[in-house]
Amino acid sequence: MKKILILTIIGICAILVFVGCENGKKEVDTQLDVQQNIEREKEEEKKEETPPPEVYHYNESGKIMIVMYHKFAKEEGSDEWTRSFDNFYKDLQYLYDKGYRSISLQDYINNDIKVPVGCTPIIFTFDDGTKGQFNLIRDDEGNLVANPESAVGVMEKFYAEHPDFGLNGTFFVIGTSYFGGEGTNQERLQYLVDKGFEIGNHTKSHVNFRNASPEEIQEEIGTVVNNVAELLDGYEVNTLALPNGISSKEYKEYIHKGEYDGKSYENKVILLVGANPALAPSNEDVNFLSLPRVRARGGNKEVEYDLYWWLDQMEKNPKLKYYRLES
Ligand SMILES: [Zn+2]
Repeated sequence: MKKILILTIIGICAILVFVGCENGKKEVDTQLDVQQNIEREKEEEKKEETPPPEVYHYNESGKIMIVMYHKFAKEEGSDEWTRSFDNFYKDLQYLYDKGYRSISLQDYINNDIKVPVGCTPIIFTFDDGTKGQFNLIRDDEGNLVANPESAVGVMEKFYAEHPDFGLNGTFFVIGTSYFGGEGTNQERLQYLVDKGFEIGNHTKSHVNFRNASPEEIQEEIGTVVNNVAELLDGYEVNTLALPNGISSKEYKEYIHKGEYDGKSYENKVILLVGANPALAPSNEDVNFLSLPRVRARGGNKEVEYDLYWWLDQMEKNPKLKYYRLES
């Protein structure tokens, strides 16, 4: 009898506890409902405020020019490798007017290309780390700024006037001391990187890879990789412009990957010297380890396979261009 009584009491308690829980749960449910409603409303408001994300579709069978510059000076003279600052500015204006917009080499590798509808991306590269490409001077307050008489100075000016052109370029440097001019080596590189430019590899001594041993290849590439990493707090140089466009016959794998002074390197991109626009990064036939470039030359003569020749080809046949589609 006692047992039954105890069981009955336990039973009633259990029901009470259950009912209590249910009531409590209902309360919690109501609170959750209110909260969810508020959040839903907030989300809907947000949806109304933020425009839908931009979709980037391209004519992917078209090509992208990776333009190669070397020296810059006030006057061009007869040197086909030297561009004057004035003519470089005119190049930028011409490209802008024809619907080209600059992107970085890393944007290209990562297939992360964002240009306005109808526009074509273009990549600037600068070989040899010369003073005309970039040097720093002190302004009136003693701050280090890019010399207006340098390619970087010209690009900064153009970018200030045409922000939608972008400010991009990769500088392929040689050895362990770069560009010259005011400031330290470290300050010069840091300035470029802070502006959004990239540093690439052009080997320790502008070596001819054709006859280089695996050890020499690794030293030539690793020296620049390690030096820039040291100067720029671990910056990873992973793009290489082959000196004179010459690769190794037997030891290509060391140009791609290797190790020097206990540190490994890997080039994600290897650039040639001539003479065609590159395939789109999404193209299944693209070979990042052998990418062609288009030469920008001194003088205003149109030479086959150089920049203005290709620009003309693309004007005549716009399908040749990789450009952003309407939707
Ligand atoms: Zn070179």
